[in-house]
Amino acid sequence: MNGYGGSILRVDLSSGKINKTPTPHDLAKEYIGGRGFGAFLLFTEVPKFADPLGPENKLILSTGPLSGLMIPGAGKMDFTTKSPLTNGYASSSLGGMLTAELKYAGIDSVIFEGISPNPVYLLIEDDRIQLLDATEYWGHGTISVEKSIKDKYGEDYQVAVIGPGGENLVPFASINHDYGRQAGRGGVGAVMGSKKLKAIVVHGTKAIPVADPEGYRKAGLDLFKACKQAEGLVPWQQYGTTIVTSWCNEVGALPTRNFTSGYFTEGKELYGPVMREKIVVTDKGCFGCPSPCGKYSRTKKYQSNVEGPEYETIGLLGSNLGISDIEDVAEANRLCDDLGIDTISTGGVIGWAMECYQKGILTSADTDGLVLNFGNTVTVFELIRRIANKQGFGNLLSQGVKKASGIIGNGSEKFAVHVKGMEQSAYATHNATAMLLAYMTCDVGAHHNRSWAITYDLQVGRDLVVPEKVARIIWLQNFRPMFDVLGSCRLQWVELSIERDLYIPALEAITGVSRTWEDLERVGEKIWNLTRLFWIRENPEFSREWDLPSPRFYTDPPPDGPTAGQITKYEDVQKLLDMYYEQRGWDSNGIPKPETLKRMKLDEFALST
Ligand code: SF4
Repeated sequence: MNGYGGSILRVDLSSGKINKTPTPHDLAKEYIGGRGFGAFLLFTEVPKFADPLGPENKLILSTGPLSGLMIPGAGKMDFTTKSPLTNGYASSSLGGMLTAELKYAGIDSVIFEGISPNPVYLLIEDDRIQLLDATEYWGHGTISVEKSIKDKYGEDYQVAVIGPGGENLVPFASINHDYGRQAGRGGVGAVMGSKKLKAIVVHGTKAIPVADPEGYRKAGLDLFKACKQAEGLVPWQQYGTTIVTSWCNEVGALPTRNFTSGYFTEGKELYGPVMREKIVVTDKGCFGCPSPCGKYSRTKKYQSNVEGPEYETIGLLGSNLGISDIEDVAEANRLCDDLGIDTISTGGVIGWAMECYQKGILTSADTDGLVLNFGNTVTVFELIRRIANKQGFGNLLSQGVKKASGIIGNGSEKFAVHVKGMEQSAYATHNATAMLLAYMTCDVGAHHNRSWAITYDLQVGRDLVVPEKVARIIWLQNFRPMFDVLGSCRLQWVELSIERDLYIPALEAITGVSRTWEDLERVGEKIWNLTRLFWIRENPEFSREWDLPSPRFYTDPPPDGPTAGQITKYEDVQKLLDMYYEQRGWDSNGIPKPETLKRMKLDEFALST
């Protein structure tokens, strides 16, 4: 099949059996690749009520038809599984170089199932595929293991690896690659750890077939030219995602002290230009990227190297914890990377614990003697270690903010900032109704990348609650994740304002299938509904309540900054949901209506919920 590696690899870790089957044409036609493959395979292969950390759950890696080809940023892959953090759908994307190698090995998806009796790693060298003993790597951090594996096999081998967080089944453990890229969200690393799979090592040398080589060459060049000519290229390359740190603070969206505020008085010390001057050593990009947003940094204070920190990490491990020294944030980032835990969830749960401590709900008698004041960097470093190792007070925090607040109680649930159990990423949404709705209805929990709408809120009026805003969120949710289906980065479209229509001739020349963006959005909508059905199937108590945001955003006005005194009214939260459900064709509990499913040919899946 043009644009595809051509096979799906199945690895049964219980028996050690490995087999490859051709990638089904129908799967490619209906779900295209990446996140689409993951959603379909998850729903159809993982049995109802499977334990996320048990042998029946599967970890599914998928590439897309653009992955590994000369298209800007075509180095994305998707990890899909049933989340141990939320008990729902988890999908986390990863950049870097791994995707291309997998496609060059002729593989579109890898499905891991079962549980290995001993720690192993998977080695893929084209058609030579083996499970090998990983005892020597077990217990070690991601950075040293990736380096050891590369020393052993060579720089051409790409490695995805878990750290102690994944081995210890921390439900927000990450899968890491390229010394600091994370598939961070939803606990994909814990599922990999539950299977005793320490690493995936890939080197491929095959060609990817394309339907129209000349058309592909031209369409690819047009895309690269557009990136190179984009006005936003230079600042984006200089600062990457940290380009938004100052803007977020200035508009009151920078999460500060567990989202009590959106404004951090000492925030200037975290801004992109300060970071660039103080710690950035070089820019770093994923496979085929003309606009490398990754930053490789070195701290003087800790004499350590780290990829990042990115904006989300600065928000959650910096301002959200009252930390204003970028070197401290970089070191916290390095610890999370090496231990293999998500920087966003880690910052979220530590921020919650710090607020509990400030309010006297937790005392040092509960925290192993640690002083949890905001801004206490030493404590933050120690908590990161204890969370990854599930040690002492860290064991409570390792459960995530929803479960930890359920255990501690005393009103702490009201300032546990999450949706569906996933800690909210780095936008304070006291008065930003589109972004708030984006978090409420995101398909994995409170994550930003499906529908990043904070700038749109500012453009049209941040407290507006109107159908047009809701329609915008739905359009973004159908459209933006399609980049994760195609296997390329969305940031060239988002940050460089590349015309999205430029991707259409490239996709057609590569696959030989003609599709418009409207066709792709229909696939996006179908995937969105399928993953919704997965939540409902796995959680019989699923209802409207699950789509509510943290009460923080409708009960606690920020004391300072541009949004001082502002919240979203609870009745507006409910109105947003009503409008959203109506426009999606879902009932008042957020369940897709039969006619909606029929329109998308998803009726057969409804029967199994
Ligand atoms: Fe990777 Fe950033 Fe380039 Fe996207 S823009 S491909 S995330 S380096």
